[in-house]
Parts: sequence; structure tokens; C-alpha cells
Amino acid sequence: MAERLIGAHMPTSGGLDKAVRRGAEIGCTAVQVFTSSPQQWKSKEVTDEAAAAFRAACDETGIGTHVVSHDSYLINLAAPDEELRAKSTAGLIGEMRRCGRYGIPLVVSHIGAHVGQGTDVGLERAAEAMKTVLEETPETVTLLMETTAGQGTVLNSTFDELGRLVGMLDGHPRLGVCLDTCHVLAAGYDLRTVEGYRAVMEEFDEKVGLDRLKAVHANDSKFPLGSHKDRHEHLGQGEVGAEAFLCLVTDPELAQVPVVVETPEAESHHAANVARLWEWSRAAP
Ligand SMILES: [Zn+2]
Ligand SMILES: [Zn+2]
Repeated sequence: MAERLIGAHMPTSGGLDKAVRRGAEIGCTAVQVFTSSPQQWKSKEVTDEAAAAFRAACDETGIGTHVVSHDSYLINLAAPDEELRAKSTAGLIGEMRRCGRYGIPLVVSHIGAHVGQGTDVGLERAAEAMKTVLEETPETVTLLMETTAGQGTVLNSTFDELGRLVGMLDGHPRLGVCLDTCHVLAAGYDLRTVEGYRAVMEEFDEKVGLDRLKAVHANDSKFPLGSHKDRHEHLGQGEVGAEAFLCLVTDPELAQVPVVVETPEAESHHAANVARLWEWSRAAP
């Protein structure tokens, strides 16, 4: 049986290849990275040298193609302002093209917020932008919409919205979802127990399709069920709790889905959070 894909969002100072190597050192079999600064619009071209160093790091560590990229926080594909929407669309296209150059198969995006236009208009605008993005990006890169906590007017805090977007994109083969445990709990999905976890996954399967679930963010939550607040906590120390993570990393459906932590204090705490996931993954079902 292939090893499970467990890892962390790794800091990329010194290059993406360093992120992969440091990830492997703390026990990651999958990693998430930023390919450019998440707080800035501008980005550098991927050089042949950087791409080669990255591929070498992936091969040598055994992480292989189990890498996920997270797009810029500035992107809002549903923005009412046309200029910002165009900039966001171009930004995500750039991100996916960079991933094509690196050989990163998955890009996670927060998609956007309707900012007062209402959910229906927001979803339409997001769908239109995603259509353009998918048309103009490499066949090797899949776009993953992240489940959100539903803070403010942010889209995709419900499986219904994610399912609607999949439908609006005619079930595009390069469109998937990244489920974040902190965000879904904050959005009101109670996955804290075995029964709760099963019910949430069943609902996801019904409304979105489990085959669309291509990545998981394993984060505990500082705020309770239905709080609509997005604040990550170390695993087992927040409102999500150990049982949900145990379910997640023993779920046979997710055996080959990358599960990565995005918890605080990466340098000092990622190793412990990743180790916790491995421990739970070895627990008896
Ligand atoms: Zn996340
Ligand atoms: Zn978050």
C-alpha cells in the first residue's frame, strides 16, 4: 500500500526546492508552497534553474508530484470592480502557469468574495473568471477551490456553493476542491466526531462529489462551530479536536489525497503537527 500523503505548508525562503527538502526532513510526504509572495501582485518568472532545482528536490525526497501551491490572498475572482476582477484572473493564470513550469499539479485558491453583490452574482462572476483561467492554463495543472469559513461575504463556505460552481463550469476535469477542516467547522459543519465526520463527508459527496476532493488542509480552529471565523490552531488543541483528524488520516477514500497543515509557528511547530497526523494515521480504525 502506498504511503499516505501527509505534510505541511512550508516556508519558501531560499527557494521552493528548500521548502521541499525541509518538508521531507520533518516527515512530509506532501507539501504546500507559495510560488510567489501571497501579499503581492507582482511575481518573478520561474527560471529553468529554479524549476530544475525544485524537480530534483521532489525526486530526491520522494515527495515527487505531491505538491500543492496556494495562490495569492489578494485574488478575488468575484470582485464587483472590473479592474480588480481582471487583475485577479490574470494573477491566478500566472500562478497556474508558474505551477506548470515547476511541475506542481494542484493550485488552491480562495476564489473570492461577493462584496455586497449577493451570492448568485458572486458565483456567476467567479465562474466566468474560472472559465477563462482554465482555458488559458496548462493541462497539467488543476484548480482547487478552497472551502471557506464564510467570514464577511466570502464565497464557498457551503458545499452547495462549491457544487453550484462545479455545475456552472460543466464539471470541468481540471476543477476540484480543497477542504479545510478549520474553515468547514467555522462554517457550521460538525465533523468533530466519527458520526459527524461521516455525515459531513457524505454531504460533500452528494453536493460536490468526493472525486473532486484533491487536497485537505488539516487545521484545528481557535473559534467554535459556526463562528465564521478563520483562525488556525495546532492540531488537537482547538475546536476541531483529535477525533476529526483521526477520521481524516484513516479515511480510505483520502489515502492518496495530500493532507497538509497550515498551522501557526511553522518553524517551531510544523514538525510536531505533522508527527501528530502520522500518529493518528497509524491508529486502529
Ligand atoms: Zn486552508
Ligand atoms: Zn484559514
